Amino acid sequence: MSTPSLDFDPSNVSLPQGHFIGGTSYYSTNEASIAVYRPSDGQLLGYIPDASPDTIDHAVSNALQAWKTSRWATQPPRERAKVLTRWAELIDRNAVSLAQLEAVSSTRPVAEAYASDVPFTADAIRFFAELADKHGGDFAATRRESLGFVASEPYGVIGAITPWNFPLSMCSWKCGPALAAGNAVVLKPSELTPFSTLRLAELAIEAGIPPGIFNVVNGRGATTGAAITRHPDISKISFTGSTRTGAAIMSDAALHGTKPVTLELGGKSPQLVFERVPDLAHAAQCIARGFTSNGGQACVAGTRLIAHKRIVEPLLEAVQGHLANIAPGPLWRSTTSYSPLISQNQAERIAALIDASRASGAEVIFGGGYFEDTDGGYFHRPTLLANVTESTPAVRQELFGPVLTVQTFEDEDEGIALAGHPTYGLCAGIHTRDIGQAMRAMRRISAGTVWINRYGRSGDMIIPTGGFKQSGIGKDLGRQALEASMRYKSVLIDFDRT
Ligand code: NAD
Repeated sequence: MSTPSLDFDPSNVSLPQGHFIGGTSYYSTNEASIAVYRPSDGQLLGYIPDASPDTIDHAVSNALQAWKTSRWATQPPRERAKVLTRWAELIDRNAVSLAQLEAVSSTRPVAEAYASDVPFTADAIRFFAELADKHGGDFAATRRESLGFVASEPYGVIGAITPWNFPLSMCSWKCGPALAAGNAVVLKPSELTPFSTLRLAELAIEAGIPPGIFNVVNGRGATTGAAITRHPDISKISFTGSTRTGAAIMSDAALHGTKPVTLELGGKSPQLVFERVPDLAHAAQCIARGFTSNGGQACVAGTRLIAHKRIVEPLLEAVQGHLANIAPGPLWRSTTSYSPLISQNQAERIAALIDASRASGAEVIFGGGYFEDTDGGYFHRPTLLANVTESTPAVRQELFGPVLTVQTFEDEDEGIALAGHPTYGLCAGIHTRDIGQAMRAMRRISAGTVWINRYGRSGDMIIPTGGFKQSGIGKDLGRQALEASMRYKSVLIDFDRT
């Protein structure tokens, strides 16, 4: 099959509107509007409603009603799996239009959205469909005349809140396990990138997911997001976003019903390169991609290079060689491979952190500032910062932009110690041909994911993702995400008394 032409005119893309509740688009007359801008060039793209408390109640009561009255939760899991598989097939079939919608309304270049975001979204849903009937427990060791077992059941309505980076994938990571386990979902996408999630909800209905089982409510975080977390009929919260918001959600969930939370939060991940690196060119490519992918706006971005003193110079030369080939441009051109920052706010935040880092002694040794002639988007140049220490702001805090700090070490212990981070523990990359050294580093670095001689997720949905320390609680993807979408009831029967 030939690859379709992906270049498109952004003014021809139609945007879904409103909220999506009870299986259809939903509008309320008394809601304020939120303007949504195109990250590629800063143009006004459209408006979404800012949900009123009545709209949130309407969404949650629709979800609860559908969960209680449709067969979604009670049917054999294989039947749910068939519907979810149809949803994945529809996503695949609509790959071009979904990639174009993602490119016009988020930071994803159309070619990348088509080649990875859309198939990964479909695959995540397919993976959880396949897993829907592949879990179960053992009987407990009890006295002979008793039978003890653990029954799993869905929570009911799960509230999901997603960030603006990778909106399609984030939706599938939340909905896949929640729906496969038999829950209903009320999801709030980021107010910066709401449109592709609404389109996924339309396709869910087309696939046969009962109306009300998957609802999308638009609005701001502090109001709509908080109202979802606090709603008495929402039994669990699954969140992806910043550490700061995660803490607010955890506190709200504790105070409003002691709800369980899954939190996928920020990172400040190291790429640790030992002297005996197996392939310096490959490591350089991992480093360049690791901190520039999606304009550095990935939770897993490898933004701290920790390199052995004896190889740092040729390594940095090779990294800079990759950075020189980066192609910013309109996200609706298939030749564009580099993303803009999401917003002016984000640009200002990054500039302030770079300034604060320079004031504390850091030196920009490559890049800095913005690409010119990009029609208005904030295309930040990939930037390398040297002369940094553990207290430099760019080392301590997540910038969420294409900025790599560079630190060096002389022996293994020093390198591993630098790779650890006091706050974050999302991922780490280790590059060495010495497997013993790789295993020692893997054991000692406190991170939820460790990549050895590679950097970045593969398409293996069975491998979960999630952070340690302030990078999060719980996992997305893998069996763990399905298990976290269910609660467990312990049952003990004395059958000699029946
Ligand atoms: P954010 O925390 O600002 O917002 C995330 C979502 O939370 C948005 O939908 C927002 O409207 C909502 N929100 C904001 N305040 C809220 C509140 N008080 N209550 C409920 N909801 C609220 O994050 P962002 O800027 O959209 O995304 C970037 C962040 O997400 C980065 O820190 C990144 O590392 C993180 N992230 C983590 C992962 C992961 O898997 N660990 C994946 C992607 C992004």
